[in-house]
Parts: sequence; C-alpha cells; structure tokens
Amino acid sequence: MPELPEVEALVRDLTPTVVGRTIQSVTVYKEKLFNAAPGLTLEDMFGRRIERIWRRGKLTVWELSDGLSLVIHLKLAGQIVHLAPDGTELAHGGHPVPMWGSPLPHKSSHVLFCLDDGSIMYLTDIRQFARLHLMPHSEVGTFLKHQKIGVEPLTRRFTAAAFRDKLRRRSIPLKTTIMDQSVVGGIGNIYADESLWRAKLHPRRPASSLTDAEITRLHRAIRAVLDYAVREGAAFVPHGKAISDRDFPYCHGRAGSPCPRCKTIIVKEWVGGRGTHYCPKCQKLLVPVLA
Ligand SMILES: [Zn+2]
Repeated sequence: MPELPEVEALVRDLTPTVVGRTIQSVTVYKEKLFNAAPGLTLEDMFGRRIERIWRRGKLTVWELSDGLSLVIHLKLAGQIVHLAPDGTELAHGGHPVPMWGSPLPHKSSHVLFCLDDGSIMYLTDIRQFARLHLMPHSEVGTFLKHQKIGVEPLTRRFTAAAFRDKLRRRSIPLKTTIMDQSVVGGIGNIYADESLWRAKLHPRRPASSLTDAEITRLHRAIRAVLDYAVREGAAFVPHGKAISDRDFPYCHGRAGSPCPRCKTIIVKEWVGGRGTHYCPKCQKLLVPVLA
C-alpha cells in the first residue's frame, strides 16, 4: 500500500482540486523525506503553479510551472490530504492511516504545501518511508528509468507473451515475482494476493513453473483486479485487515474468513517477507507425485 489503484485514485481525486493552484510555501518537518537535484532547494517550489499530476507505477509526477517537477513516492504508508481554508476535506489519497477525516496536521504530517487560495495539502506518513524528489522536468524520464518500473499493467504493452518471458526467467515464488516492480509496475501486496486468488495459483509456486495456460490466467487476473480497483475505488484495508461488510478485496486481509469461492478458510503465511493470504483449496501448491 499504496499500490497502482490507490495512486491512480489519488491522481484522479487531487487533480481537480490542486491543478492550477500556485504553491506559496512548502514546509518539510522530516528532512530525509525531501531530495532535490543539484542546484535546487525547497524554496524553488515557492510561487510555482501545479500544472499536471500523473502516475507511473506507484509514483506520482507533479509538473510545476517553468520546468520543474516533483516526483512523490508514497512507499508503504504515505497519504496526501487536501484541506480547504475552513478545514473541509477537498481530496485525499494514499494509505488510509490515519483514517480519512482525522484532524490535521497529524503528528506524522511531515510535509505541508500551502497553496495560494489558503488551502493546505498535508503529506502524512506514519512510517516515514515516503520520498519527494524535486528536479528539472527534463530529468524525470531518466529518473523514472532508474526506478526500473516495468510495463504499466493496464496498457496494451502489458501482453501475456512479455509477461511469460519475465516469469520464465525467475525461479523465485510467484508472489514475490509479480510484486517486483520491474516485472509489472504498480502491484504490491494487496493486488498480488488478489490476482493470485483470482487466477487460483499458489503464491509459493516458482514463477518459472507456470504453464502457458496458467500464465494467461494470471495475466488476465492481474488486469481484471487492477481494472476493478481503479474503476470501483481502491481497496480499503486499514491495518492490514479487510472490512467485513465490503466484498473487495476478496482474499487479502481475510485470514480466518471463508474463501468467497469455495468457503475454505483463508490462511495467512509469510512469503518473501510479506504477509500473504490465500485459499488452501483454490490455490493448491502442486507437488510432483511419484509413480
Ligand atoms: Zn477457495
């Protein structure tokens, strides 16, 4: 978290409220969150208009007037909330802790953007992993290239054939493979669990062991899960637990609850250091059977 759908939702929600606004000042309370290209400082953002916000993988690019861009990576737990001068929430996006609607600034609100209409954008991050990179716009392409973000899964460039080539070269667990940003851009823990559940594949299967039919199934599942999350609203999984009266996500965050497909109890295990949810019946780890 926040993954592709959450970051996409953030771009869509914040674009109408902040694009066209001019940044009056920016305050950074945790210095490690902010980096600037040589010759640039925080003050270089003052007086610049926010012209466009777009997403690549889990990163957002904030194009500012006169050739500067701010790249924001929310990492595990960053969130952005835009409040009107009277404190009304205009837009929000990212990690849902602190809960939307909590009083701001929070003790973890590490960056404040004061805009020309008196509204304030708060970047809050309970884990302090979020990063802001200020750079000339001309350097954004190179910067993103260095992040090694794979193909965007919701574009035509994400083909089953290209996906197969990536999987065939990796003998590590499937879950870890599809969370590798150079394999598919934007998938994290939630949507990896959801995609594998939908495709009925065990998270520990070696990526290279998949048959062509399984690869096609997983490719379709990834697209369907992300497409659904972008259209219907991103998953809401505060503190790693799904909300019981919401259908989505179907598997992630639901350890101890019945699988929506077969009613077997969903289990949680650690795969590649990440809490992984799967249905032991729908997602069998096939072992070779000796004759
Ligand atoms: Zn099941």
